[in-house]
Amino acid sequence: MQNSQSDLSSNFQANSSLNGDSAVIRNDWQVTEIQALYELPMNDLLFKAQTVHRQYFEPNQVQASTLMSIKTGACPEDCAYCPQSGHYNTGLSKEQLVALEEVVKSAQNAKKSGATRFCMGAAWRSPRGKDFPVVLEMIKEVKAMGLETCVTLGMLNKEQTEQLKEAGLDYYNHNLDTSAEYYSEIITTRTYQDRLDTLTQVRDAGINVCAGGILGMGETLRDRLSLIKELANLPEHPQSVPINQLIAVKGTPLEDIKAMDPFEFIRMIAVARIVMPKSYVRLSAGREGMSDEMQAMCFFAGANSIFYGEKLLTTENPDMNHDLELFARLGITPEGADKTCISELDKEQAQIDAAVQASSSSEKPLYYNAVN
Ligand code: SF4
Repeated sequence: MQNSQSDLSSNFQANSSLNGDSAVIRNDWQVTEIQALYELPMNDLLFKAQTVHRQYFEPNQVQASTLMSIKTGACPEDCAYCPQSGHYNTGLSKEQLVALEEVVKSAQNAKKSGATRFCMGAAWRSPRGKDFPVVLEMIKEVKAMGLETCVTLGMLNKEQTEQLKEAGLDYYNHNLDTSAEYYSEIITTRTYQDRLDTLTQVRDAGINVCAGGILGMGETLRDRLSLIKELANLPEHPQSVPINQLIAVKGTPLEDIKAMDPFEFIRMIAVARIVMPKSYVRLSAGREGMSDEMQAMCFFAGANSIFYGEKLLTTENPDMNHDLELFARLGITPEGADKTCISELDKEQAQIDAAVQASSSSEKPLYYNAVN
């Protein structure tokens, strides 16, 4: 949830008015206006983004979510970036819906590691009849642990959306992926309008919307700006806006796409922050390929949420300890995390480090030193 103004320190409130800008919530953005922001000199753009960010959020906190794949592979959709699509041979095996106990265990571990939201993703066109009641149970169990819940299950009808709400679902993820204009180059099995309709159902049911897109799929700058415009001009800004950088997976039609320029990515984070001031902007897929310095610049540009954990559905994600170390180096704390769990984790790590240290200085080391 967003911090109230009263939670924010007077220090950064004062700073937020340095350039006289006030972050007005608008839903009538033009691509040309967003482009003008995007093309500002980098320092001006980052300053503006940071100024807006400080009006709504504690600047040194980042929210952490964990994402678990609850049903992997053989998806009937043909999203060109996705290793889980049944249309491409990426070597992924088809799996059934995972057991409830497995989800509960993963959610407990996620909470221990400092995550405040547990997201569950299923590779479906829309939820399947026999599996849907099990997913509702998963939501109830995870919610009962005190975690926020999020699912991504494909397109929803009204009844399914209401059942998700009743189960206590906090967020539903459904990305627009790219601009309306470029969309047919990426997906042909469902329309842009289908996506917008699902977002409408979710919003109308009172569930928080998590919607963003993927950059670096061969789209033009105009497409990227147009995606941001679509998101910013929804009747209500999505509460969470994941900005993904394409992971070009072998076997998908996008496997040979050249990686995008990191500064272009950081600029898009900054414009997303400026045009959707109250939304959590999440660094999502692609973080594994980003340097620490690039991630730090993304946080400065207004990203204030990450996916945390070794896997992002089926692709790699930075190691959790590395994320905690990066946070510590940047003076960032995980928003709302259970501090006792994190300090327990720190203690465990300190014990392991001490044991390795003691062992390597003894005659018969217990551990192989893989670092030196
Ligand atoms: S992105 Fe989702 S809907 Fe598209 S192929 Fe992958 S799992 Fe299916």
